[in-house]
Amino acid sequence: TIFPINNAYNLFAKSRHQLLSISNALYKEPVPVTPRFSLFRKNNGVSHCWIPPAEDLQKVAADLRISIWKQMTDAGIKYIPSNTFSYYDQVLDTTAMLGAVPTRYSWTGGEIGFDTYFSMARGNASVPAMEMTKWFDTNYHFIVPELGPDVKFSYASHKAVDEYKEAKSLGVDTVPVLIGPVTYLLLSKPAKGVEKTFPLLSLLDKILPIYKEVISELKAAGASWIQFDEPTLVKDLESHQLEAFTKAYAELESSLSGLNVLIETYFADVPADAFKTLTALKGVSAFGFDLVRGTQTLELIKGGFPSGKYLFAGVVDGRNIWANDLASSLSILQTLEGIVGKGKLVVSTSSSLLHTAVDLVNETKLDTEIKSWLAFAAQKVVEVNALAKGLAGQKDEAFFSANAEAQASRKSSPRVNNEAVQKAAAALKGSDHRRATNVSARLDTQQKKLNLPILPTTTIGSFPQTIELRRVRREYKAKKISEEEYVNAIKEEISKVVKIQEELDIDVLVHGEPERNDMVEYFGEQLSGFAFTANGWVQSYGSRCVKPPIIYGDVSRPKPMTVFWSTAAQSMTKRPMKGMLTGPVTILNWSFVRNDQPRFETCYQIALAIKDEVEDLEKAGITVIQIDEAALREGLPLRKSEHAFYLDWAVHSFRITNVGVQDTTQIHTHMCYSNFNDIIHSIIDMDADVITIENSRSDEKLLSVFREGVKYGAGIGPGVYDIHSPRIPSTEEIADRINKMLAVLETNILWVNPDCGLKTRKYAEVKPALQNMVAAAKQLRTQL
Ligand code: GLN
Ligand code: ZN
Repeated sequence: TIFPINNAYNLFAKSRHQLLSISNALYKEPVPVTPRFSLFRKNNGVSHCWIPPAEDLQKVAADLRISIWKQMTDAGIKYIPSNTFSYYDQVLDTTAMLGAVPTRYSWTGGEIGFDTYFSMARGNASVPAMEMTKWFDTNYHFIVPELGPDVKFSYASHKAVDEYKEAKSLGVDTVPVLIGPVTYLLLSKPAKGVEKTFPLLSLLDKILPIYKEVISELKAAGASWIQFDEPTLVKDLESHQLEAFTKAYAELESSLSGLNVLIETYFADVPADAFKTLTALKGVSAFGFDLVRGTQTLELIKGGFPSGKYLFAGVVDGRNIWANDLASSLSILQTLEGIVGKGKLVVSTSSSLLHTAVDLVNETKLDTEIKSWLAFAAQKVVEVNALAKGLAGQKDEAFFSANAEAQASRKSSPRVNNEAVQKAAAALKGSDHRRATNVSARLDTQQKKLNLPILPTTTIGSFPQTIELRRVRREYKAKKISEEEYVNAIKEEISKVVKIQEELDIDVLVHGEPERNDMVEYFGEQLSGFAFTANGWVQSYGSRCVKPPIIYGDVSRPKPMTVFWSTAAQSMTKRPMKGMLTGPVTILNWSFVRNDQPRFETCYQIALAIKDEVEDLEKAGITVIQIDEAALREGLPLRKSEHAFYLDWAVHSFRITNVGVQDTTQIHTHMCYSNFNDIIHSIIDMDADVITIENSRSDEKLLSVFREGVKYGAGIGPGVYDIHSPRIPSTEEIADRINKMLAVLETNILWVNPDCGLKTRKYAEVKPALQNMVAAAKQLRTQL
């Protein structure tokens, strides 16, 4: 017998992306075609203004579902999930199922159609989209439900049932997957105008009747299993939140009778109290755990698992691209089988495969040795199957020994191991690195050299990336133009950007980053230990995907990465030109990271490489160096008890990069989020000379930190306008913002800059916006 396989959702994420690009064209005004979608559009003879009919979208979607179900069937999978397909996002699907449409979308009831659905996801001409936020600690974003006491819930999307029936008509009996009612509410936020303290869980009584309707329709359609995803169980929950689970499933118990009910958790351990609550839930027959990220779960299961229940053991990593260590997983599974009994153990991936790349088959250019170490979604399913067979005494010896060989080659490969780097990084643990002088003294020293006005102006790094610029980079990569032509074209672009900034009278300049298409990829391509996929796309949100680099080995820097461009840029102006680097924590958090050593070790290695770059920039005469840590915050672990450890090594890694510079060298950093109130002390501990930070969408949040008395002595530039919007802010508006900041921050530490890089904006927006920004700074200087 082949064991059931669970969670192989969205196996064909690539076609999924194609699908989303159609829906993108359908339900939003034409957006600029990003390179990754142009291929699809070209293949179909479609230009980016083409609006396909809704039927096309439905057809692509159905084909995609069918192909996934077929692949699972062919693999001999017993429990094939359904309702895992989404036009945009599963949480939004649940909002649709519950009819919880915010009133501003003027939905009039009935079954929710594309118009209402995509308006919620992306906004329409008159109403903006609902808020989007990160799905736990992944890079996937969901649409946040907005709920209050007045929401009239109704059963408004039959998608779960329709998909179940669709599969059934193809002869596939699936396990429909729903986001569990408690997780849904815990991920919601109080609607506009509703008190922040509104008890969202009080809506349980209102949504459960709709869950009951869905369940009864699924039963009537012939379902024998149902899965509820309740991943919030891995977070730090209060007792009243845990009680909500008990209450919800007790309430659903009679509706669920006759069904096998699976509750899935993922992304971390389920804490001991939650484990107790979970395994005691009424009417539930199976529990799923992430055994890759959950390092304590095994102990909890050993300590007591309810008899007669199924255990869905997530031993194959759904969040990474590494081949499983089959021998080690099999031994874990055997231990578990000893606890839960034969026939009650289900082999599974640790989470949905939405968060990994799709299929190694698409990687024709990847080095074969590295490829043998990897498993994308399509390969992970095969691994799960192999493990299940192994457990059942039908071990595929050839498959297992090939896997063991690959594991061994990965361990010993000289491409993975660089002893000097390992030693240097190991020496950093438990040590401390700080610049010798404190920040106020350093700022004084730097000011003598830089001689900047008060309220100095600067930008975050990138300038608009034109189609022409992308073409030049692409042609150089494809060797269609010579190195010389490329260098000249980039230098010309830099000189244009320098001139614009001088004309605008900005104080500290940037070179505009025309040579980079991505702030991580650019460095990864030049560092040892990184590999790049051709098609390893992972969905970030809607039709947006990212292609994270793979860090497979010890990281080192063969040669300087940015010195050539930075010195070229500096030679074009007398004003200070910022060196522009991506920090180690951001490079780490936006990559697929090796799993054969702790994350902090990899981070330290990257830090040492960036340190070399910082020092080379300094030697080359660059006196202001910005080290972006855009992603520092998003690396925070899900469990609070792990925050301190993460922040400690992350902040340490940042300090390592610039501990070797002289007092006269000014170190900037930049962060892309405004809610830093809870980590402000770690940010201060980074000890940068100047931090620029996204702010303009939430002035109050940021300023309240300082109003509450946090002492901040370093330079700080809270963004004075939102670069995510094409809107051009007026001088008065910007001056007003700066004045608000001056009320809580010392005049001599305040910088004036936009929220983030200008890469996605047009020159027609950037020039007047920056002009007004400089005008506002100048106006205020005369008044201070
Ligand atoms: N220096 C980068 C830029 O301006 C920073 C981008 C970011 O913070 N995401 O594009
Ligand atoms: Zn940013």
